[in-house]
Amino acid sequence: MLQDVFLVGIGASPGIAIGSAYVVDRRRMSAVERTLEPHELEEEVRLFHAALQHSREQLEDVKKRVADPHIAEHLHIIDTHLLILKDPMLVDETVATIRREKINAEGALMRTLKGFRAVFDVIDDEYLRERRSDVDSVGDRILRNLVGVSQQSLADIERKSVVVAHDLSPADTMQMDKSRIIGFITDLGGRTSHTTILARSLGIPAVVGLESVTSQIRERMPVIIDGCTGTVVLNPSPDTFREYLDKKQFYEYQAEELTYFRGLDAVTLDGHNIILRSNIEIAEEVPIALREGAQGVGLFRTEFLYMKRKCVPSEDEQVEAYREIIESMAPHPVTIRTLDVGGDKLVSDIDLSDEANPAMGLRAIRFSLKEKILFKVQLRAILRASAHGKARILFPMITGVAEIKSCKNLLNEVKRELAEEGHAFDADIEIGIMIETPAAALVTELLAREVDFLSVGTNDLIQYCLAVDRGNEHVAYLYEPLHPAVLRALRMICRAAQQAGVMVGICGEMAADPLYTLVLLGLGFDEWSMNAPFISQVKRIIRQVYRPEAEQLVAELFELGSAPEAARRLAGEMNRRFPSLFGKPIGGPVE
Ligand code: PEP
Ligand code: MG
Repeated sequence: MLQDVFLVGIGASPGIAIGSAYVVDRRRMSAVERTLEPHELEEEVRLFHAALQHSREQLEDVKKRVADPHIAEHLHIIDTHLLILKDPMLVDETVATIRREKINAEGALMRTLKGFRAVFDVIDDEYLRERRSDVDSVGDRILRNLVGVSQQSLADIERKSVVVAHDLSPADTMQMDKSRIIGFITDLGGRTSHTTILARSLGIPAVVGLESVTSQIRERMPVIIDGCTGTVVLNPSPDTFREYLDKKQFYEYQAEELTYFRGLDAVTLDGHNIILRSNIEIAEEVPIALREGAQGVGLFRTEFLYMKRKCVPSEDEQVEAYREIIESMAPHPVTIRTLDVGGDKLVSDIDLSDEANPAMGLRAIRFSLKEKILFKVQLRAILRASAHGKARILFPMITGVAEIKSCKNLLNEVKRELAEEGHAFDADIEIGIMIETPAAALVTELLAREVDFLSVGTNDLIQYCLAVDRGNEHVAYLYEPLHPAVLRALRMICRAAQQAGVMVGICGEMAADPLYTLVLLGLGFDEWSMNAPFISQVKRIIRQVYRPEAEQLVAELFELGSAPEAARRLAGEMNRRFPSLFGKPIGGPVE
């Protein structure tokens, strides 16, 4: 048997698990369609209703057994499944098919489900796809109950194992007992599916989207999961095994240590406070952000609401989505970024013409200012939701004052309309802009006069500053956060913001990487926003330094002529100060 089979999927929930595989057969149930005699039809309808009832009881049982408060927050998913069980389209249609076509309940149900799938396939909407998988898993449950094949419950797994499945439903994930299921890997799934969000809430390492792992693995095969990097190793060699055992120990030690920091402020030894917020894409990430101690949302990427669906979300739909997040985050603010479409982010209903250079084309605020009707709908929705807590508006990819003025004019127009219509909203809602182009960095002082806050998007700023496509692996080696040009751009921005007396934040990936924490502190960023699981680690560093030390380090980095030199200097400093942080203690003062 081959050793060390490395597979790469999507790191859905961080952590390392080493164990043996427990393969769960969650392939779609299928059943045979049978023609019935007229006198058998009513009995068949009765069997179908009994299977529905049995399915309902099973789901109620899943709900009852959930004791973990992290999971309890997600019970609405089971409620959705219970609602599907009552859905007239599913129930009445199946009953009608039994009677009309004179076929058995399994056959009729399969026809109904096929009809559902055909509808979902045409819609091609990321949200509805999630609903499609909900319908699939409910349909499967009813079928199993009809046929009498018992649903393999993850609650019944008795040995410590890594669950391997083609796909897992949220109900499966809810039944996972952390003392036995140490991780899971699936062929399907994405970073934001319900199942992976649940795994993150539970703290179970998971890698999804592996495409064909179920066909490459066997029951009880040894397997390693690295949910941080999305790596899976089947049948590891002794060397790989030892390597990951070390990594696992280190990760767990770190994670345990970090829980202590969740409730503490991010304050330096000399009393300087930093605000740490969370980046989110969907509402389900809010409980994770709260658990990690985020002081609000610093970046809500609203593109996700628009992505991969046929029609853009209505005003009411958006109000609901924003309101839900704003209310759960109260009293902390939620920073809602207006649609940042284009470049590498595509929305199917929005017809972006083929551009030779999309990253520099009609994207983000340029698109919104062209498609004013769409833009106004989003502004109306954000304003209406602002009546329910603290919201802030963030405009992406600004290059000059004229764009901000256009945005503000439109916002004022929308405010007038809403007031006339009698809608409540926060009339003083704060507005901010992303600083993510070299132009914005060069004129920050002018832009700062127009807004309440700034947020630096280093992902794009580095791309545009260094002329390096952020998604192109051929030039990835040139994507250097410590390039002297990037450092100078960041310093210019911070100084201009400070002179203007405007808060300056950072929400690019640099904020989440502990390697850069001292640099960002030394540069003077006030608010940092990042994916929630990184908050504690960054906070821990902030709490162990004096700000002048970080400023001194930044001054030294500015003396160096290239990114590799700066990277070496910084890594040396971080390893010296925090020997246990990067998994390679090199001596020096202990934290
Ligand atoms: C950025 O560019 O740094 C940023 C936070 O925005 P996005 O990654 O969504 O482009
Ligand atoms: Mg950006």
